[in-house]
Amino acid sequence: MMTSKRMPVLFIGHGSPVNAISDNPYTQRLRELGREIPKPQAILCISAHWMSEGSWITGMHNPKTIHDFYGFPKALFDIQYPAPGSPVTAAFIQKSVDDPKIRIDQEMWGIDHGTWSVLRHMYPKADIPVLQLSLYMEQPGDYHVKLGQQLRLLREQGVLIIGSGNIVHNLRQIRWEEDAQPYDWAVEFDEWSRDKILNRDIHSLARNYNQDFAGRISVPTPDHYYPLLYVLGASEERDVIRFEYEGIQNASISMRCLSFGLVR
Ligand code: ZN
Repeated sequence: MMTSKRMPVLFIGHGSPVNAISDNPYTQRLRELGREIPKPQAILCISAHWMSEGSWITGMHNPKTIHDFYGFPKALFDIQYPAPGSPVTAAFIQKSVDDPKIRIDQEMWGIDHGTWSVLRHMYPKADIPVLQLSLYMEQPGDYHVKLGQQLRLLREQGVLIIGSGNIVHNLRQIRWEEDAQPYDWAVEFDEWSRDKILNRDIHSLARNYNQDFAGRISVPTPDHYYPLLYVLGASEERDVIRFEYEGIQNASISMRCLSFGLVR
């Protein structure tokens, strides 16, 4: 692995797949972020959409573009994100993580829309190798933070770590009207998370996110929340924290994006 400039670590709220083909303040911000960050050697994405038994990393040379959604415009199904993989980086990550044992995937996964809907704005050329790490869903919050901590060293190797999910993500409560106002509970939980992130209270974020009504309805299942825990794990005390985008789409989806250690 090459050593290069220390990379920041990002959490991106990805929201609806339609953002992949939208030009709005959120996607414009993603485009700017891609230009502000030093060019990575590789990108490791922890997407909400790869849920598995055990922790897996993609290790193929040419990961396929996965269209893991239904009922959206054909234009979305036509999108390809032909970034190469990086078997060398996958092997390096497997070797660097002591516990848990990470397994290398050659055919199951590829690049899902949690990853490509973000990267096609940040890196439209798709010329940087992309790997995904799966979410071992049965594990509690602490597991994901601990695994994130072991990924921290990748930042020194020029690997950009991105957690892609949504802090508030309730599809049952979604409202599609243009002027849909956020639910009070969505605002409450989004702000609770923001304050805990600013205070670096990782313990509360990993263990107490579903302690009250606002948390339980904002995180009905933890798939879109867990990617945040990897990002927190990979962050360090000395990193500057920045909220790169804030806002609630469709009343029940927080688009909050944040960076640790992005120096501008
Ligand atoms: Zn999603």
